[in-house]
Amino acid sequence: MMNDFSNNPYYELFSKQYNNQYTIGNRTYKKRIKTLNALQRAIETTYRAQIQEALQKDLGKPVVEAELTEIYAIIGDIKHAKKHLHQWMRKQSVATPLSMLGSSSHIAYEPKGVCLIISPWNFPFNLTFGPLVSAIAAGNTVIIKPSEMTPHSSDLMSIIITDVFSEDEVALVQGEVEVSTQLLKLPFNHIFFTGSPNVGKIVMEAASKHLASVTLELGGKSPTIVDKTANIDKAAKKMMWAKFLNCGQICVSPDYVLIDEVIKPQFIDACKKWLNTFYDDNPRISDSYGRIVTDKHFDRLSSYLKNARTLNAKFEVGGETDSASKFIEPTIISDLKPEAKLLEDEIFGPILPIVTFNNLDTAITYIKSKPRPLALYIYSKSKANTKKIMNNTRAGGTCINNSVLHYANHNLPFGGTNNSGIGKSHGFFGFKAFSNERSVMKQHTFGVTELLFPPYSGFKEKLAR
Ligand code: NAD
Repeated sequence: MMNDFSNNPYYELFSKQYNNQYTIGNRTYKKRIKTLNALQRAIETTYRAQIQEALQKDLGKPVVEAELTEIYAIIGDIKHAKKHLHQWMRKQSVATPLSMLGSSSHIAYEPKGVCLIISPWNFPFNLTFGPLVSAIAAGNTVIIKPSEMTPHSSDLMSIIITDVFSEDEVALVQGEVEVSTQLLKLPFNHIFFTGSPNVGKIVMEAASKHLASVTLELGGKSPTIVDKTANIDKAAKKMMWAKFLNCGQICVSPDYVLIDEVIKPQFIDACKKWLNTFYDDNPRISDSYGRIVTDKHFDRLSSYLKNARTLNAKFEVGGETDSASKFIEPTIISDLKPEAKLLEDEIFGPILPIVTFNNLDTAITYIKSKPRPLALYIYSKSKANTKKIMNNTRAGGTCINNSVLHYANHNLPFGGTNNSGIGKSHGFFGFKAFSNERSVMKQHTFGVTELLFPPYSGFKEKLAR
């Protein structure tokens, strides 16, 4: 390390990992599997009940949601990595042009080195351990900085990490912005950040000082288009689940709906029916409905409701709140003026604005006027409409006639584009994010290229020989 980082509070920890990176990186496939098994045991068995409890305390997360979206999700990541790791680690032979006759070429996936993972609060375990699985599968050492907003989860993750790893392999440090700021000054080889686009820019700027590579998993407003050919009841059911899961605090949550004005009344009725079914007519006492993470976020979301009321928007469903329990009722709002906050900011909460259109082109133009989203959902039975939307928009990912679920397919890359993110994660794409694809060319016998060496006089004669 050329620069002097000795005043940085995390320099000692960083140095331990820096000095250990080749030992970790050169571990065999079997040893990497052993490490993944140890992490799996901790999550699946040793700490499972404590994970559920921490999520209940931090986010009021129902046990089934904790199991499905955090525990099961991470175990799925680990199992997928274990199943494919041998193949991922293998050098990948590639063709060599005839002009380089006598040599062979391959790509070696080698670990990037010392990595930093900064994670958010909405799925604290999933969004910390998910990238960690990719990082350790790829043979890196890792420092983790989880969110300060979910302290019970962060405390427990710290215990799990200390239990499973030595700190020269994986370590977790807790704290707020100042901690991230200090960590970001260190010359990590790769930074994997999950969070808001604004902080993503800060991370990328810090990374540029050392030219660290980055994966930025960001957010933004993910639209859903429902055209008049859609199965309205199924669209409403899937969307009500996806939108109000984790109280809308999901990066790929349907942020707003663009719907053909002709089917809006039927759609709203179907939404009401499914919300009543999901939450027994009373989400306040339903054990299937969560809470807002902090007072700050509760106030932010409440201000959106206030702003909508001021602008005389129509509350189709919900709108009730309770600050003491950080409860916000599942809420659907229509007739919003374009300047409404709900149509500007990423909502990240249980409020769904509905915008109508009478021509699909208008909906497409609306989406194109906004930054590129992390997800774009299409509900339609029309192949022509679906194709038109796909061809005329850009997004990190898309579900057709469903919402959110593309996230759960390990074989698909997950990530955004531009404002919604840079780089991809999950499965092999996550392994690649934490790997340097090293180009290797090996000369076996005499190579034609040797004919190109100077002196260049008599070049034509040499070639003719
Ligand atoms: P955030 O950007 O505020 O914080 C994320 C992390 O960055 C936290 O650990 C936080 O401590 C740290 N941080 C905050 N300010 C910082 C600064 N100035 N410098 C350095 N580090 C800083 O995001 P959040 O509120 O935790 O999460 C919500 C956002 O994350 C939403 O935009 C959401 O869409 C996005 N998100 C994206 C994904 C994804 O996979 N693409 C997943 C979940 C959340």
